[in-house]
Amino acid sequence: MNRPDARRGADAAANAPGRGAGRPASGPDQERGAGAVMVLGIIGAVLLLTLGLAALAAAQHARGAAQAAADLGALAGAAALRDGYDECARASAVVGRNGAETTSCTVPAAGVVRVEARTAVGLPGAFSSPGAAHAAARAGLRATGLAGDQGLGAAGVVPGSGVRAAGAGGHTNGQIPPDALCELSFAAGQRLRCDAAAAAGRLNGAFRAEFGRDLSVTDSYRSYAQQVAVKASKGALAAPPGMSNHGWGQALDLGGGIESFGSAEHLWMAANAARYGWIHPAWARPGGSKPEPWHWEYGTGA
Ligand SMILES: [Zn+2]
Repeated sequence: MNRPDARRGADAAANAPGRGAGRPASGPDQERGAGAVMVLGIIGAVLLLTLGLAALAAAQHARGAAQAAADLGALAGAAALRDGYDECARASAVVGRNGAETTSCTVPAAGVVRVEARTAVGLPGAFSSPGAAHAAARAGLRATGLAGDQGLGAAGVVPGSGVRAAGAGGHTNGQIPPDALCELSFAAGQRLRCDAAAAAGRLNGAFRAEFGRDLSVTDSYRSYAQQVAVKASKGALAAPPGMSNHGWGQALDLGGGIESFGSAEHLWMAANAARYGWIHPAWARPGGSKPEPWHWEYGTGA
């Protein structure tokens, strides 16, 4: 079988010069060249398409990673804010652990943390260009919040901090408009959420029956601006603005003897206030994380 084939090949080779003499490049060669160019073109197009898709995938991945990092960072920041820690330090740490970089961290509203994160977009091969994907997220823990004036100590171990009776009317901490608050019947100028004010009136009636005088109120609803001022004066000992139950119109600071553990007034409160929905949160009791005999709350749980 080899021999005839070889002979035919030799014949063809012998004929070729004669056929092609005097003419430029033969037709078949031209076609073969054009075909090669076309194949190269297709390969190039496929390569570019692949790179483009890879770049798109990388960008989408980076955007998704940035969004996830921003989401988690904002949540961590909001929790830190609630717990009295540095919200942006916490947010940035979490963003970093999720492979992104924090480009912005703000507290746009009470108890809300907004985080912007950036991740590098890695493109494959020689086409790689340093890019970045950006994402932003907000998180707030409006329905929780530290019980009381101060924010030190872990909120997770503060009983009553996570339970809140409905009734802030959709307002945020420290932003309850005056007409949504009620003045205490026995303490001019002191305002609370209306259900808390009514309960305080009933509590005061029982207190008055026992002691012959009204409850002495030293602090009630505290606006966000007032919380900012308190934070500025008390520093680290004050709750972060937006976190105090005073800002929900659900806390009273009481004097007239109640501000001292062991006094007749304080003991009466400890024994009777709960009947009117007012409680002394565990963190504020003797042995609590921040004993405050004067601080009482309504509707925050036991
Ligand atoms: Zn207080």
